[in-house]
Amino acid sequence: MLHIYCPYCGELREEDEFAYAGEAHIVRPENPESLSDNDWGRYLFHRKNIKGSHHEMWYHAAGCRKFFNVTRNTVTYEIEEVYKMGEQPPSRAKEAQG
Ligand SMILES: [Zn+2]
Repeated sequence: MLHIYCPYCGELREEDEFAYAGEAHIVRPENPESLSDNDWGRYLFHRKNIKGSHHEMWYHAAGCRKFFNVTRNTVTYEIEEVYKMGEQPPSRAKEAQG
């Protein structure tokens, strides 16, 4: 059982309150009608399936009902960081600073 910190509710809560919502930072194409079927299919279905640190969306279904992002290690299940929608992962900001 994971214990997840919701950035809106502010407490560690049990995984049962949350729903996994897929890979984070998938940007919808601006003009989907101009994409080839192959590119549209890639947007809809192709995901990274990373072994290690993975950015993913979670939904607090039994709480505030908001989406947020989690960086979770897919090998150890350790949650490395939690951040709100629209934000970049704190670890990525640190990498950018050098
Ligand atoms: Zn919440």
